[in-house]
Amino acid sequence: MIAMMVAMTTAVWAKGPRPGYQTKVVAHRGYWQADGSAQNSIRSLVKADSIDCWGSEFDVWMSKDGTLFVNHDPTIGDVEIQKSKAKVVARQRLPNGEPIPTLEQMLKAAVSLPRLQLVCELKPHADKKHEAKAVKKIIDMVAKYGLEKRTTYITFSLEGMKELIKRAPAGTEVYYLNGELTPQQLKEMGAAGMDYNLSVLFKHRDWVDQCHQLGLKVNVWTVDDKPEALLDELLDMDIDFITTNTPEQVQQVIFERGISTYP
Ligand code: MG
Repeated sequence: MIAMMVAMTTAVWAKGPRPGYQTKVVAHRGYWQADGSAQNSIRSLVKADSIDCWGSEFDVWMSKDGTLFVNHDPTIGDVEIQKSKAKVVARQRLPNGEPIPTLEQMLKAAVSLPRLQLVCELKPHADKKHEAKAVKKIIDMVAKYGLEKRTTYITFSLEGMKELIKRAPAGTEVYYLNGELTPQQLKEMGAAGMDYNLSVLFKHRDWVDQCHQLGLKVNVWTVDDKPEALLDELLDMDIDFITTNTPEQVQQVIFERGISTYP
């Protein structure tokens, strides 16, 4: 019955994606709306894996004394991570009661989730030397846990992107978030593609085909709730990755179109 329904919806989906095309779903800040979860928590990573997301995204800051923490905002409580000592940051808790995770704790948890891809966002630090050190430490720590092939990087920082491309092992995918660079510019810099906001994507629709023609990939953020018309449009554009705060809803719509979301 399900197979028949899928066949029917596939048939209805006349324009269709390119052959072999897959849209991969990335849980934005992890699957944080799940029970007991919180944005950028270890549980959000586990929950993203539990619903077969292709990947789980998280944000990384480095403390003043060189410890990498996972958090979206520059501050947690009244503590600014990049300007504070690790022992002060480590005392902070997430809304679900977990202590703020270090990147090391996050990666340790990821080791036991072997199907999940990690989408690691380097946050733009005020001091670019500090940021470059953070890049080196992130890459070393990913290597320490043998996660090089399962980790892609994203960043709003142009300097950070260049540093990631320079330091990461060959073949590592680095995407740019800030939206002002063209596919050609990204290609010349060695990026894997663009990871742009929906508004940028719709302002420059031709960039999607340009990316694909250049061998680059396209990620878009964030596609939330159940915007079926929007998803239809994105799927028709052959978007490679959709980053969402509501991964189960997006997966459901993609499944109904008969497009594989995994692996
Ligand atoms: Mg992020």
